[in-house]
Amino acid sequence: MKIIVLPGDGIGPETMAATVEVLRAASQRFGFDLELEQDVAGHDSLLRHGATVTPALLDKVRAADGLMLGPMATFDFKDESKGEINPSMFFRKELDLYANIRPARTWNGVPHKVDAFDLVVVRENTEGFYADRNVASGGSEMLITEDVVVSLRRITRMCCRRIARAAFELARNRRKRVSIVHKANVLKIGDGMFIDECRKAALDFPDVAVDDFIVDAMMAHVVRAPQRFDVIVTTNMFGDILSDLTAELSGSLGLGGSLNMGARHAMGQAAHGSAPDIAGQDIANPFSLILSAGQLLEWHGRRTGQAACIAAAEAILHTAAAVVEAGESTRDVGGNLGTAATGQAFARRLLDA
Ligand code: NAD
Repeated sequence: MKIIVLPGDGIGPETMAATVEVLRAASQRFGFDLELEQDVAGHDSLLRHGATVTPALLDKVRAADGLMLGPMATFDFKDESKGEINPSMFFRKELDLYANIRPARTWNGVPHKVDAFDLVVVRENTEGFYADRNVASGGSEMLITEDVVVSLRRITRMCCRRIARAAFELARNRRKRVSIVHKANVLKIGDGMFIDECRKAALDFPDVAVDDFIVDAMMAHVVRAPQRFDVIVTTNMFGDILSDLTAELSGSLGLGGSLNMGARHAMGQAAHGSAPDIAGQDIANPFSLILSAGQLLEWHGRRTGQAACIAAAEAILHTAAAVVEAGESTRDVGGNLGTAATGQAFARRLLDA
């Protein structure tokens, strides 16, 4: 398995170094070939190549089996004509990574304010309300007059269909329940189509139960009783917001992995940003990036039939639980280790698993 590794900005290099250590331990323990090729994106690439991402890098990623993208200082990248492209958006769009898979679960050893739960938000990633990705050229947010803005939301049958299938396929390997989240009482046509396509996909998965919730009510349901949910499927912006809520309910945003996947490519990515306030201090929590790397291994294993990659992904999840419970982690989740020591402790436990 060849993975392109882009450490990113801020805390990216520290958290990615810990993640690379864990990936190497996984390949050693489970005996699969792993080639990690490091390159640059974000500020380093802007300095070196005049753009945060380049066509040559995209070609390299296309030819590889997966991408690990570190957190990027996206807020700094404002002018595409100066090479300031949002790398995360760029790869999602260019590689057609239509499904953002964001698991959230509670962990023994990390305080949480709700009952224990284990769910996954499956978020459509390529259209919806995101002005930077739902038109072929230009943007879909317009200043009509100085005082009037129109933002367009794109919903297509094809994107609804494929995200629905991704959710049901995932649910089949879990607790076999899909909850559809929408605003079809107001967005009758767009979200009406989304629900229709989810219900149609459900016909091919008779063993998976389905229900649906209006997005505003869902916020109350998920805070009140997150344990009743298994897989939640929704459109882009609702999924963006809901998945941060579920990650935080689990005890910390830093404990949520995130995989962006398409038909042929996938990208592991931390759920958080580049955290410039704590960069370079060896205190950033690497778990989000490590868990995303585990998701990437699982995606590759299922796609290629490599059982060793699937076993490694499961072991990463179990090791994360053990490491957190033992307090071998950064301070934000109750431990007293630095970023590098957390990566080392994780890799050691994985090798002993
Ligand atoms: P952030 O997620 O970087 O940080 C928010 C808060 O959480 C900060 O206090 C930070 O110290 C803390 N935090 C974040 N990750 C942590 C970790 N791993 N361990 C411990 N604490 C952690 O959000 P922000 O400060 O609003 O954004 C900083 C930059 O990141 C901006 O340029 C923003 O656009 C970008 N961003 C990028 C992504 C991405 O690459 N996917 C996502 C969100 C934000």
